[in-house]
Amino acid sequence: NPINISGTPGIEDEDKKPQLTEKQKRKMNIEETKKSLPIYKYRDELLRAIEDHQVLIIEGETGSGKTTQIPQYLHEAGYTKDKKKIGCTQPRRVAAMSVAARVAEEMSIKLGNEVGYSIRFEDCTSERTIIKYMTDGTLHREFLSEPDLESYSVMIIDEAHERTLHTDILFGLVKDIARFRKDLKLLISSATLDAAKFSEFFDDAPIFRIPGRRFPVNIYYSQAPEADYVSACVQTILQIHVTQPLGDCLVFLTGQEEIETCHELLQERTKKLGSLVKELIVLPVYANLPTDMQAKIFERTPPNARKVVLATNIAETSLTIDNIIYVIDPGFCKQNSYNPRTSMETLTIVPISKASANQRAGRAGRVAAGKCFRLYTAWVYKNELEDNPVPEIQRVNLGNVVLILKALGINNIINFDFLDPPPHESLVIALEQLYALGALNHHGDLTKLGRRMAELPVDPMMSKMLLASEKYKCSEEIVSISAMLNVNSSIFYRPKDKQIHADTARKNFHVPGGDHLMLLNVYNQWAETDFSIQWCYENFIQYRSMKRARDVRDQLVNLLGRVEVDLVSNISDNVNIRKAITAGFFYHVAKLSKGGSYKTVKHNQTVEIHPSSSLREALPRWVIYHELVFTTKEYMRQTTEIESKWLLEVAPHYYKSKELEDSTNTKMPKTVGKANSELG
Ligand code: ADP
Ligand code: MG
Repeated sequence: NPINISGTPGIEDEDKKPQLTEKQKRKMNIEETKKSLPIYKYRDELLRAIEDHQVLIIEGETGSGKTTQIPQYLHEAGYTKDKKKIGCTQPRRVAAMSVAARVAEEMSIKLGNEVGYSIRFEDCTSERTIIKYMTDGTLHREFLSEPDLESYSVMIIDEAHERTLHTDILFGLVKDIARFRKDLKLLISSATLDAAKFSEFFDDAPIFRIPGRRFPVNIYYSQAPEADYVSACVQTILQIHVTQPLGDCLVFLTGQEEIETCHELLQERTKKLGSLVKELIVLPVYANLPTDMQAKIFERTPPNARKVVLATNIAETSLTIDNIIYVIDPGFCKQNSYNPRTSMETLTIVPISKASANQRAGRAGRVAAGKCFRLYTAWVYKNELEDNPVPEIQRVNLGNVVLILKALGINNIINFDFLDPPPHESLVIALEQLYALGALNHHGDLTKLGRRMAELPVDPMMSKMLLASEKYKCSEEIVSISAMLNVNSSIFYRPKDKQIHADTARKNFHVPGGDHLMLLNVYNQWAETDFSIQWCYENFIQYRSMKRARDVRDQLVNLLGRVEVDLVSNISDNVNIRKAITAGFFYHVAKLSKGGSYKTVKHNQTVEIHPSSSLREALPRWVIYHELVFTTKEYMRQTTEIESKWLLEVAPHYYKSKELEDSTNTKMPKTVGKANSELG
């Protein structure tokens, strides 16, 4: 596992140091790299500022060493005496894992011992852990078991500028704790210019600025809008490769699927070019990428080759890849958004903000002057991009965090200390949903069910489904379905040259009832083969995703044990399984309407069954879906057939029998008209 030794070419010279072992050499490289980081010069000054102030805002450019170095400095300065821990939150799982691995390596210890990470469904820490990286969501949950964060001496809320929902809520929680835990140090660290705002929120806490080093980056715009930015990326990468001097290239795409498409296209095109060009090493980075592949992006590029990293937003600020000279920015990212009016949550591809565009460009100027190719016009940049992204708290469903806040005893959520408050309507809807799920009573207090729901690290609807499986005596099955839903889109493998085979293989898993049952079928068949790789390969199933599903399942089984749900199995009859799903997801119900499209029951929105669904042809009258995705249309993904009368059984205070009259447009147009006007 080679280490990056950017900016320290002298070390490469092996002749001069023949007596050193490989391990010693690596250690020296690490020391050199640490010393070359911008933060290094400020080590003592920073430690003094932390000593002097309980809360400190730290601002420094991406790559200056905040995330990897500050916890080590604190450890060296004695903040981990008396077995207290240093915590550091990250908005993204990949960042938490990767940074922890790096720090463990820098400290020459095994990951999971003194340095570890904890992310949802994966805890890589031990009794000995004193530097702990975790996702912001994980810390949020830790409050449930340790409301005063007693085991920590320092908490770093890192990447604060990302303004994820959980980070935003953490601001309010840690600010409150700092008031009665005077011994707790609180560091808020950010890559961009929001420091003043954070300082104000934390009662005018001082700001510590780490001056960055930045080389100029030339920006090039497209002359005209690009119709297909993935192929435009491929084109640009090849152009750079053929015409520009060597230097690594970073490309921002929106997700795994785009990254894979781009990767395949690049492979085809470079194969054609053959030996005419230098070697092009293409490396993907996205959230579900396995750890060994993640480590590859940090490996040094061999001489006479060019590395191209195809990344999601993760490389915008959370991860720094050294030696990037060229950046390609198509100008989009994937974003969650929630429409409180229709209570629809969708994942869509949206234009980035100017702030993001500038961060992306900045990635090209860390080690030398760089170039950034924006695949949009200068006009679009100037006139169409927003200045800043909208904080997540203002655009997503708040059910999850409201449930945790309630479980923490924060009753008056409307008056919670928000950095930027969410829309009032979103809070009200979250409360209403939790009430309908039975997590809150009519006073808005947490019920016993709600307390158990809060223990499970999944969305309230999924927690409710898991807990309902107890009543319907099918917890074994629901746990498998939940685990599969967690990895959902990447289970089936569909290579370009074998699409027909892949589709046939997929159809072989279809079972009556719908997609949830199909996922269960896939899992059970795989389990029967003793989790075989070969079986996955033969059936066009992604082994990695299945392995992850199995890990998630193991975790969920443990957690269910904690809330005292017994594992029982009932395969003879799938009605119970579908009822348990309905008990959690009764918000996501749609009814067949004209021309094979569906209408959501409560809000009368037009949606369709996803083309990949097993119900695409069956078109049952009533369906429940796991999520909506918007591509060319609003599609329901993971759809299962239900009976409308179950809704009255599982959600009596949400559905009225009138809404569920089983009519179709063709038979009784009048009734439908009436029902629609009542629901509208
Ligand atoms: P910041 O948090 O200020 O953005 P980091 O502490 O993340 O900075 O990064 C500091 C340096 O550590 C960067 O040069 C980066 O390339 C390097 N680094 C971080 N993670 C890894 C890793 N997993 N492998 C190799 N180098 C890494
Ligand atoms: Mg960082």
